[in-house]
Amino acid sequence: CGIVGAVAVNDITTILTDGLSRLEYRGYDSCGIAVYANGELHRTRTTERVSELVELINEAKITGLTGIAHTRWATHGAPTTNNAHPHFSRHEDQTYPNIALVHNGIIENHDELKSMLIEKGFEFESQTDTEVIVHLINYLYVDDLLCAVQQATGYLKGAYALAVMSRAEPHRIIGARHGSPLVLGLPADPNHISGHYLASDALALTGITDQIIYLEDGDIVDIQTNKYWVFDSTGSQIQRTIHTVHSQS
Ligand code: GLU
Repeated sequence: CGIVGAVAVNDITTILTDGLSRLEYRGYDSCGIAVYANGELHRTRTTERVSELVELINEAKITGLTGIAHTRWATHGAPTTNNAHPHFSRHEDQTYPNIALVHNGIIENHDELKSMLIEKGFEFESQTDTEVIVHLINYLYVDDLLCAVQQATGYLKGAYALAVMSRAEPHRIIGARHGSPLVLGLPADPNHISGHYLASDALALTGITDQIIYLEDGDIVDIQTNKYWVFDSTGSQIQRTIHTVHSQS
């Protein structure tokens, strides 16, 4: 339903939760956030409102420079905390969750992907269609998250906007869109690079940046603290138009 992601020079938790609040009026059944800190991916999720999520984050003292957040509108699996995004993937051979992901849309071939991934040693902890994507990316991951996401999209049937992060590459988020909207937010001031952002709607980034790229279907985007790249559906790097949006606060 709603996606926000940020990789920045300062703590991003408020950017993420403010972004979710701006999308909140559209309705959702659960929300959550994943942040990289101290070598690990930390996650907080709730079936309550975003204000409750903020309290949980403050209680747990979660801060970090890279994170993704989501408000869910359940299509597969009940609106429970376990089904709330972000979803994590930890293979049975791994000590910590390696990949975190948020997703808008529906993965139509989730049943067949799930059987394949269970065979490869992944344990599912939700009833969502989304969870197959995060395990698929972990399965395909060698040392480059962009490459793993590019490969994973080749397996997916359905509609999606995704934001994904890896414990092994903590200052990077990969986004992908196919049939669901996703925008890229650039630093508001090009002379003072504060970070790069992703959102399912530019509205979520009000007050953070007015410099927006509307990604096109099939695009995959690689955002890091100081730079970004957009790739089109053929995998070629491409320049997309940067729009200055008017704040709608
Ligand atoms: N199909 C996914 C789920 O049910 C994503 C729903 C959404 O777009 O929020 O978890």
